[in-house]
Amino acid sequence: MRKYIPYGKQKIGISEIWEVLKTLKSEWLTQGPLVRRFEKKVEKKVECRHAVAVNSATSALHISCLSLGLREKEWVWTVPISFVASANCAKYCNAKVDFVDIDINTGLIDTKKLEKKLIQAKKERKLPKIVIPVHLTGASCDMKEINRLSKVYDFKIIEDASHAIGGKYKETKIGSCEYSDITVFSFHPVKIITTGEGGVATTNNTEINKKLKLLRSHGISKDKGEFIGQCREEWYYEQQLLGYNYRMTDIAASLGIAQINKLDGFVMKRRRIKDKYIQELRGLKCKVIQDSDQNKSSVHLVTLMLDDKIKHYRDQIVKNLRDMNIGTQVHYYPIHLQPYYRNLGYKEGDFKEAENYAKRVLSLPVYPHLKKSQQRYIIKTLQGILRKIQEE
Ligand SMILES: *Cc1c(COP(=O)(O)O)cnc(C)c1O
Repeated sequence: MRKYIPYGKQKIGISEIWEVLKTLKSEWLTQGPLVRRFEKKVEKKVECRHAVAVNSATSALHISCLSLGLREKEWVWTVPISFVASANCAKYCNAKVDFVDIDINTGLIDTKKLEKKLIQAKKERKLPKIVIPVHLTGASCDMKEINRLSKVYDFKIIEDASHAIGGKYKETKIGSCEYSDITVFSFHPVKIITTGEGGVATTNNTEINKKLKLLRSHGISKDKGEFIGQCREEWYYEQQLLGYNYRMTDIAASLGIAQINKLDGFVMKRRRIKDKYIQELRGLKCKVIQDSDQNKSSVHLVTLMLDDKIKHYRDQIVKNLRDMNIGTQVHYYPIHLQPYYRNLGYKEGDFKEAENYAKRVLSLPVYPHLKKSQQRYIIKTLQGILRKIQEE
């Protein structure tokens, strides 16, 4: 029997181990000089002014909402097809969450539906304070259009780019915040690069940057020039608002420093694996979702979408693959159908495209060190399963 192939996993090399070892022997373990060095590398890589590293993308989403001034009972809109953290961040602020349906061809926010919903919300005086588009699988949403709508309807934008570091939207790097207020990346091990647990928020706005930095560390400032009170003693630090302990450690940052140097290579290998799947799985009552020509995905995920006619075989296919030691996953079960969100009043039928999408997709294994022989095995196995279904 072959070794189990997961749908995704981290690639750690000697340089990562070396960087972490050096840090363990240094003076700093918690947030210190390496966190700043990692942030600078992110700033350079994604072409933004400020990067603020924290202990997870979930934390980054939370303090991003706060730094944009989100208050109780205000609305945040995101999509049903994402990880629950895209919506939970608003609930942490006691805000209200609503969803915009997706385009089933891409899995991304449908900007036509967004506009329709905004027109309706304006009439009802329920316009969102923040919209959180999600760059599912690493493919960018239509940010120009979302940005245009944000000016007409006066909302802020946080890009949930947890999947998407290393990707491009038209001529801009994802994370450059050309069309948004803040972009968030995740460094969970299953994502493109990892720090163990970790995340970062990027912005070009000086005030937001300051706010994010205060919020990640108890609301405490050590910058005398910024102090509100009178005390200027050497030992003094000042708590200016209610923040959290969301700091990244220097240990995690050193792992990130080694990883980000490899980002372009990782993305290239992921793209090559995806191209192979596209070629080999043609004409089998399914398709691999492809990116638009103008954008470049980081290929966090490869999504196989079954034709409508065979979608009821999806769970069986996942099981058959699992029996052959091939891991796949569904990204995602719609957020609004999770019990927690059903309790808030959402139900089946609320976002039909998302629900249909969630029934038809599975994510195929993709990571930089997936071997050619392993991919051949996955493709052959999958072809066999799909052909058998067609004959039934
Ligand atoms: C992974 C993920 C998150 C949360 O990331 P963490 O770093 O694990 O907190 C948020 N949104 C999306 C879309 C994700 O995939």
